[in-house]
Amino acid sequence: MAGFLAKLKQVFSFSEIDEDFYDELEETLITSDIGVNTTEEILDELRELVREEKIKKPAECREALAELIKERMRPGEGAYDFENEPCVLLIVGVNGVGKTTSIAKLSNYYKERGKKVILAAADTFRAGAIEQLGMWAQRVGVDMIAHTEGSDPAAVVFDAVAAAKARGADMLICDTAGRLHNKKNLMEELKKIYRILEKEYSSARVETLLVLDGTTGQNALSQAREFAQASNVDGIILTKMEGTAKGGIGIAIESELKLDVKFIGTGEKPEDISKFDPNSYVDSIFAEPAEKEEEEVENKEEGESKEEGGFNWNNVT
Ligand code: GDP
Ligand code: MG
Repeated sequence: MAGFLAKLKQVFSFSEIDEDFYDELEETLITSDIGVNTTEEILDELRELVREEKIKKPAECREALAELIKERMRPGEGAYDFENEPCVLLIVGVNGVGKTTSIAKLSNYYKERGKKVILAAADTFRAGAIEQLGMWAQRVGVDMIAHTEGSDPAAVVFDAVAAAKARGADMLICDTAGRLHNKKNLMEELKKIYRILEKEYSSARVETLLVLDGTTGQNALSQAREFAQASNVDGIILTKMEGTAKGGIGIAIESELKLDVKFIGTGEKPEDISKFDPNSYVDSIFAEPAEKEEEEVENKEEGESKEEGGFNWNNVT
């Protein structure tokens, strides 16, 4: 990423906005995970803006480009409407991307905001998945409904729906298995879960959130493509976005698949999640290298003091 920033700086230090400038910018964007199609679109928009606004200097272009990308990245209206009504969050994604951890984080996030959260351990496939979720449920202080390993995920969801209704939950968050290599099975499993939800919990809004590992670049994009075909993805949780790992992958997902990035995971602790903020995301990509370094030092200090304060496990029941 440091190489990308240095390159971007170099591009914007060109003396003129000419074809060389656009070529160099194009190459820089493509190598930052933004992808070919999105880069083309962005550059077309930029050329138009340069003409309209009579922008003369590459340095001014930087701001225009950042603004243009922020606009693309802004989650659509109603992106978080699910929060305001009884809802089911169905968390999908391949193994290892951070589904279970994100569920712990979302539980913590919404519990802190006064919501009653219940978990469904519907990843019954992966060894230890139920125990892992159970451990988080206990730490964060939310209830979890589980069956045994290997049991039918839809049956777990069925019971979890009954519990959510009986206990007056605001939000039921379902873990799921991540077997993308067997797409047909996965699709069938998800379909069955959707059917149960429709039939047993029609009063709740279903929000399917796809978890993607932000460090995996174009790979994350192809996972997003596959899942968008297999289920109704309503938004993305982009994980492992702490530190300098931030690439342009979020931009590609938003632009090429028209999927909103809704949450960003920035660590392994329950509080390491936030709603996606296009301004800070894009600014961190486009910051001058010097600014960027300062920002990182600041973040690090913040991180350290957070670490000291720590998540108080004694507060959870
Ligand atoms: P799952 O297989 O999709 O359920 O993934 P897990 O939730 O088990 O996470 C896989 C690994 O990624 C674990 O070691 C997590 O601690 C780690 N992880 C998840 N989210 C983040 C994140 O935002 N940042 C970092 N650094 N690690 C994460
Ligand atoms: Mg898991």
